Amino acid sequence: MTSLNDLPIRDDLRGLTPYGAPESRVPIALNVNENTHPIPESVAHGIISSIAAAILSINRYPDREFVALRTALADYLGHDLTAENIWAANGSNEVLQQIMQAFGGPGRSVLGFPPTYSMHSIIASGTGTRWVSGERDADFEMSPATVVEWIERTDPDVVFLCSPNNPTGTPVSIETIEAAYSAARGMVVVDEAYSEFSPEGEPSALTLLPGRERLIVSRTMSKAFAFAGARVGYLAADPAVTDALRLVRLPYHLSALTQAAALAALEHAPEMLAMVDDIRTQRDRLLIELAALGFTPWRSWGNFVLFGGVDDPHAVFTDLLDRGIIIRDLGMPGHLRVTAGTERETTAFLTALAEVTGRSREA
Ligand code: PMP
Repeated sequence: MTSLNDLPIRDDLRGLTPYGAPESRVPIALNVNENTHPIPESVAHGIISSIAAAILSINRYPDREFVALRTALADYLGHDLTAENIWAANGSNEVLQQIMQAFGGPGRSVLGFPPTYSMHSIIASGTGTRWVSGERDADFEMSPATVVEWIERTDPDVVFLCSPNNPTGTPVSIETIEAAYSAARGMVVVDEAYSEFSPEGEPSALTLLPGRERLIVSRTMSKAFAFAGARVGYLAADPAVTDALRLVRLPYHLSALTQAAALAALEHAPEMLAMVDDIRTQRDRLLIELAALGFTPWRSWGNFVLFGGVDDPHAVFTDLLDRGIIIRDLGMPGHLRVTAGTERETTAFLTALAEVTGRSREA
């Protein structure tokens, strides 16, 4: 049988492994930071009508500039943004890939700060961009001084900051982002996939956009909007950035069905986002309960919690899977990551975890 290595594949892809979250269909899936709350049925009907209308002209290519969707996304984000500031693609993964195609590439480098979202380095290799690993401060935090030191030391073409960071949950402060921007000569990308789960009133990197044409804030409808299956990610930046991305995107990359579905979902933004508060409550509950069980959860502004103090993470992962619960074993020594579920799912996870680790709540 032919294997990958028998093919004349690019040398820089030899020996790499693809994105690897296991795809297990089990009753309680808390492994890929999805929104575990389905969208309301009334909203689903609105989305179906919008898609049905789009089908009637599906013989034509879609609006290549997806102006209606960009306008709706700008309205959703606020901060005086307009359609010219917005770009979108099939998931923020594709947005990030287009950014790397335009601003990274062979002979260029991207600086990231592991442990962070694994696709950042995978997209770097897919686009032939050299990945440079910076280091975080204690407790996975990132001070302005540390980030500036890494930028000065490595002089990257692109800097990836992830706030709140997957898998640690830790946010990157506005001061750190500002300092990174001032120190970098290249693009600074802030991946805010989980922004809506941050505490109320905390500023987004969107507040820094005016006057900073090398800053990009990337967002997604996959998480807070409960729209992971539809594949809609987007960014806000200076209009010149979207001009750059037009050079690398495939024409008509956002299908008419995707545009119709996303537009209808944005019309119902308040209902789509209604579960965010509940998810934050479950996340905060995980932080308290995991600590009470004697684990060390890291502070999280996302819809997930990374916790340490696990003697044998792989065994705990498998024991939970046997009970119909999947969480994430990232291969980090002593650590596992769990997505905040519904109240019922979160309870089931905490109960099963206490059972399989033989721990009980400390008084
Ligand atoms: N950024 C981060 C930090 C993520 O965790 C994820 C998904 N897990 C994404 C981007 C990509 O999400 P999507 O492509 O669904 O928008």
